[in-house]
Amino acid sequence: MQSGIQRRQCKTVLFLLILSVPFIGAAAEAPAPNVITQFSTINAILDGLYQGHWRCADVLKHGDFGICTFDGLDGEGILLEGKAYQAKADGTVITVPGDLTIPFGSVTFFSPSQKISLSDISDYEHLETALDNSIKDKNAFYAVRIDGVFNHAKARSCPKQSMPYPPLVEVTNHQTVFDWQNVEGTFAGFRYPQYMQGLNLPGYHLHFLSKDHSKGGHALQCAFDTANVYIAEIRTFNMILPESREFAAKDLSGNREQELNAAERDRK
Ligand code: ZN
Repeated sequence: MQSGIQRRQCKTVLFLLILSVPFIGAAAEAPAPNVITQFSTINAILDGLYQGHWRCADVLKHGDFGICTFDGLDGEGILLEGKAYQAKADGTVITVPGDLTIPFGSVTFFSPSQKISLSDISDYEHLETALDNSIKDKNAFYAVRIDGVFNHAKARSCPKQSMPYPPLVEVTNHQTVFDWQNVEGTFAGFRYPQYMQGLNLPGYHLHFLSKDHSKGGHALQCAFDTANVYIAEIRTFNMILPESREFAAKDLSGNREQELNAAERDRK
């Protein structure tokens, strides 16, 4: 026969188990498809907060598709089909080691709800208009993937910075620009509504990766005869902020549109 104390201990253990099982389950759960998880904010990047806070292996737990940059602003990141690639300023592309960290990025488990074919796209602005004509809700988020052989693809990458980090507009003055003709590959990224100003890049923010994974970067231009476009409408957005003294000390308010366009949309 059990003593009163033993019975009480048994009940306590059982109670703790019941409490802890759902908690552990929730912590390990991956986000549902088509939920964006964003790490840090674009204004933090404009202000030079390039220190990586999240391991790539952990970022991939939040999505199999997306774009990012790396510790020290070391190149442009593209996540496709669960793998992360780093397009460096020297023109090389590598598969990202799991312990490399990121200071900024957005990812999702990509589940497209729409597939379209676009033809005779003459430049990036034309592509933006054609995509805008294909989406239903300008106030929703979209993840976009474009597969094709591109007559022209232009992308940039930034060299790794060292502390004290300069602002993004200064770094992009020294970016490397790549121009490719007849290259097969994928443009992938997101469309954010205008009201996301300050948090991310409003409009389309796409990165390029060639099919053979040898070329890539932040998309500046593209032209093609025909390409397959996969679009996912997204209505849930999560944000994870860095926990650092530098982040806490920054003034991240204010409209930085001009600076952002100079750093991210200079298509010359
Ligand atoms: Zn980019």
